[in-house]
Amino acid sequence: MEIIQKVIHYFLHFVFPLGIAFVFFRERWKQAYLILLLTMLIDSDHLLAIPFYHPCRCSIGFHPLHSYFAIVIYALLFLFSKFRIVSVGLLMHLATDYIDCIFITHNCK
Ligand SMILES: [Zn+2]
Repeated sequence: MEIIQKVIHYFLHFVFPLGIAFVFFRERWKQAYLILLLTMLIDSDHLLAIPFYHPCRCSIGFHPLHSYFAIVIYALLFLFSKFRIVSVGLLMHLATDYIDCIFITHNCK
């Protein structure tokens, strides 16, 4: 089960954004892919937590940049064309983390 979780996690973090960049931002897909990858920087908020990684902790609603308030801000960024790619990247990141949370509730009983 943990192998499946890891495969899904890394697929959604690295391969899926490539597809998004290629399909929706074709003329500048390399730049779009780079921006999508850079949105992973929101994971720097894990450094504020002790321990900074815990296999049974859901990041959504725990870390400041993974809070519900932050999610609302990321969704609002979508309304501005300049920040649309960033918004997509951040929301995809949180969706990926949320899928991890589903696995966590299953694995960490
Ligand atoms: Zn995260």
